[in-house]
Amino acid sequence: MQAPILVWFRRDLRLRDNPALFEAAASGRPVLPVYVWSPEDEGAWAPGGATKAWLGRSLLSLEASLRKRGSRLVVRRGSPREVLAELIRETGAKTVHWNRLYDPATVERDRKLKLALESDGIEVKSFNGALLYEPWEAKTGSGRPYQVFTPFWKAVRSVATPSPALGMPKTWEAPSSSPASLEIVELGLSPRLGWDRGFWERFEPGEEGARRALETFGREAGDHYHELRDLPSRHGTSRLSPHLHFGEISPRQAWDFFRDSEGEGWETFRKEFGWREFAHHVLFHFPESAERALRPEYRDFPWAGDPVALEAWRRGRTGYPVVDAGMRELWATGWMHNRVRMVVASFLTKHLLHSWIEGARWFWDTLVDADLANNTLGWQWAGGCGADAAPYFRVFNPILQGEKFDPNGEYVRRWVPELVRLPNELLHRPFEARAVDLATCGIELGRTYPRPVVDHAFGRQRALAAFEKFRKR
Ligand SMILES: Cc1cc2nc3c(=O)[nH]c(=O)nc-3n(C[C@H](O)[C@H](O)[C@H](O)COP(=O)(O)OP(=O)(O)OC[C@H]3O[C@@H](n4cnc5c(N)ncnc54)[C@H](O)[C@@H]3O)c2cc1C
Repeated sequence: MQAPILVWFRRDLRLRDNPALFEAAASGRPVLPVYVWSPEDEGAWAPGGATKAWLGRSLLSLEASLRKRGSRLVVRRGSPREVLAELIRETGAKTVHWNRLYDPATVERDRKLKLALESDGIEVKSFNGALLYEPWEAKTGSGRPYQVFTPFWKAVRSVATPSPALGMPKTWEAPSSSPASLEIVELGLSPRLGWDRGFWERFEPGEEGARRALETFGREAGDHYHELRDLPSRHGTSRLSPHLHFGEISPRQAWDFFRDSEGEGWETFRKEFGWREFAHHVLFHFPESAERALRPEYRDFPWAGDPVALEAWRRGRTGYPVVDAGMRELWATGWMHNRVRMVVASFLTKHLLHSWIEGARWFWDTLVDADLANNTLGWQWAGGCGADAAPYFRVFNPILQGEKFDPNGEYVRRWVPELVRLPNELLHRPFEARAVDLATCGIELGRTYPRPVVDHAFGRQRALAAFEKFRKR
């Protein structure tokens, strides 16, 4: 029998439009799908609690799909270099395929691994399965990477229209040997205490779940995305982010789905995929930006956050209803609406003067879609220190943001039930209500719901003064 090709699955947990698998199957040689659990390789940004819980389910789904096709997933734990070497010895494989990842620790690991395998006479083929455009495909007129979204998106779109997705590979032969595999549950990815229960009321990890999420969005929201996308009480966005992060669906598959759809809703939605491309472009070219501000002038900003306020923010007990609703939605579902992400991030970095990295780390552990490129871009945007960032003087007002984007209070009432009886005109500003009105609604500030951790006007002024002083040093 011919030597098999090892297909190393990483964050491409799907069978359709998976170039590494597709090419292996097309070769006519036996194919051995492999997953290696190696969080140590990802350094400070190893998967957090919520993404691990997702990964456990996504791997089970991938394994089931492979079994349906007469194949199986060999699961091992350890350094990919050692595990792949073991599998090469055990199966006689001479070729390894994988789809590329672009975050700094993985780029470096894969580069060394490729050299090591090649020096042992193994052929390594890597593919683009994660992006519409490679991060190096567009450069500014002066040959530099982009740091501003609009010219970046214009430039990549002029390179070419995204190529169509590949289909499901034709069946492939299993290798003659059957290497030992761990059971996925042995990786210990699912939390024992079941704090992730609420995640699965909203999400269905795996390739089928991703397809269903896209179809539901297309049917129910796509045409109106531009009107619905800022309303956190509505299911007006696709909720594809964790599926895209784990590669349960590729951006090319999504693009094919809306390639011919016209109108403002779809045009706005296409642009969101542009932001994802931009985030990966920036992180690839500025790998140090995962740890420190992209804009050097902000690197030694004297963040002065108070740990008690940070804890109140994490727990959704800041006294600002829309901020608290967002942080509680995150805790309960592993996801937060984009509009609210911007509000809570501005609140942490401006009102509370905590570094963007504190927020990025909390999101990293609690989001099911925690993604180094998108999270870094989002946090540095809010903190005013990254690519195409909000200027330092843009301080979101958490009261007005709540009133504008949750005018009927459905979002706040869902996640902050202790305020459920407050009328709309007071819902986003309970601290301005008269004691008698609060009492009628069963609320006692400081007991049933917190007083604000910081006064809005004071917090805003303090942030502006700190940034001004820093700029004039
Ligand atoms: C502080 C902060 C932190 C964030 N952290 C993450 C993160 O860890 N992981 C993550 O995937 N997104 C992150 N985002 C971006 C955005 O909030 C989410 O991608 C979006 O809310 C996911 O919901 P959706 O799939 O319904 O998005 P949709 O509105 O349906 O958009 C479709 C897809 O486009 C991409 N996208 C949309 N907005 C952005 C954006 N601003 N930047 C990059 N890609 C985008 C996502 O892949 C998303 O799934 C962050 C934003 C902020 C402000």
